[in-house]
Amino acid sequence: MTIKIGILGYGNLGRGVECAILHNPDMELCGVFTRRDPKSISLLTPGVKVFPVEEAISMKAAVDVLILCGGSAHDLPEQTPQFARYFNVVDSFDTHAKIQEHFEKVDASAKKGNKTGIISVGWDPGMFSLNRLYAGSILPGGHDYTFWGKGVSQGHSDAIRKIEGVKDARQYTIPVKESLEAVRSGKNPELTTRQKHTRECFVVLKEGADPEKIREEIVTMPNYFADYDTEVHFISEEELMRDHKGIPHGGSVIRTGTTGWKDENGHVVEYSLKLDSNPEFTASVLIAYARAAYRLNKEGVSGCKTVFDIAPSYLSILDGEQLRRQLL
Ligand code: NDP
Repeated sequence: MTIKIGILGYGNLGRGVECAILHNPDMELCGVFTRRDPKSISLLTPGVKVFPVEEAISMKAAVDVLILCGGSAHDLPEQTPQFARYFNVVDSFDTHAKIQEHFEKVDASAKKGNKTGIISVGWDPGMFSLNRLYAGSILPGGHDYTFWGKGVSQGHSDAIRKIEGVKDARQYTIPVKESLEAVRSGKNPELTTRQKHTRECFVVLKEGADPEKIREEIVTMPNYFADYDTEVHFISEEELMRDHKGIPHGGSVIRTGTTGWKDENGHVVEYSLKLDSNPEFTASVLIAYARAAYRLNKEGVSGCKTVFDIAPSYLSILDGEQLRRQLL
């Protein structure tokens, strides 16, 4: 019997979930729900339909896990608590400062409906958080470092797009190689924001816009660019579409620490990701946690969980015995 997956919200992540289902033979897509006109969306999966979001609750019996693929800023804070009462849900909520608040709302709703919700699943938060926790528990006196990139930051790209005179833009976050190497060598450097990452921007201007004025506006933008060394390149719309249409990302979570009576032995733990497609990888993590939500709910577990609460065996398509045979 397959796990029936519903997708709510069909953007980059929604399409990524649809692709990830193809790689997981124990899963099946049973429907996509959208706030837009369903006729405006064509799915990749033959025979599966797109429904208006208003019809989702009436179809709850047909869906084992609903994967919420809306944006973290405005969609998920509303949608996850709303649907957690009726469905087992998984989301990728990534507004770090508001995760506890989100957790409490989803927990209350899921408990009312005896459903299981897993929030803030993905790579950051998600796999990075998990690896920070593992390494921090093993090397409690150590130092944590996180480097992002090279990858596209949607938030920074959006911030450039909002500048008057900008038609389109793509921003890459790039780790500073020397700092990354210093951390990997176990030197425990103290690094400023500027020493950890640089930013590279590819910008398409509207006709008549002044490039120097826009460059100045970008590099001095508080919170986004002012604390970094930022390079700005002006390119044509064709070049942007040709060379920058992908959504790659990745990064490294590194923990350094010592052991021994006199801290005489140093250790470096690193978890690293190099992703051609941020949304497709994030979607693949969501799918593994959807399996966990399904299994936990079958065991009678209800309420909200995060990646910290889920034992690894719940993620795997293999059963306990098969996994134990792989414990080499
Ligand atoms: P998108 O902007 O592509 O999609 C978000 C929603 O926008 C969709 O679900 C869709 O809902 C709606 N939408 C409206 N108009 C359109 C349109 N024309 N085309 C596509 N979608 C449209 O965001 P992403 O899918 O890239 O990312 C979703 C969230 O995932 C992000 O906000 C981010 O916070 C999170 N994320 C988390 C990560 C992690 O590691 N935890 C990593 C990457 C992303 P509808 O169909 O209802 O209109």
